[in-house]
Amino acid sequence: MVRSPEDVKAVTEQRSLEITWEEGHIGRYPYRTLRGECPCAGCVDELTGVRTLDIASIAEDITIGDMQLVGNYALRINWSDGHSTGLYSWKMLRALCPCPQCAGREPGSPG
Ligand SMILES: [Zn+2]
Ligand SMILES: [Zn+2]
Repeated sequence: MVRSPEDVKAVTEQRSLEITWEEGHIGRYPYRTLRGECPCAGCVDELTGVRTLDIASIAEDITIGDMQLVGNYALRINWSDGHSTGLYSWKMLRALCPCPQCAGREPGSPG
């Protein structure tokens, strides 16, 4: 179970969502990357798990219009392209953390 982050904020100038995990661990998720990772049934085939969303179709200047917490396990993001059905769970976001510490982690290594 991934704990809720300490802070979540949309940094408009950098077009990225900044999530502060435990102990000041900060992940900055570019909007476009995050939009491309949308896990909803409209973007991923529920049966096969294959992504049906064409990443190239996502606008370069996509932004976040609004966000809502869903229970204590996920974040719903309302994108500027009108798409708002994806629930980004903390677990998923934590796994996607693009910071050097996480990105440089060997696959399968502990932590
Ligand atoms: Zn979606
Ligand atoms: Zn990280």
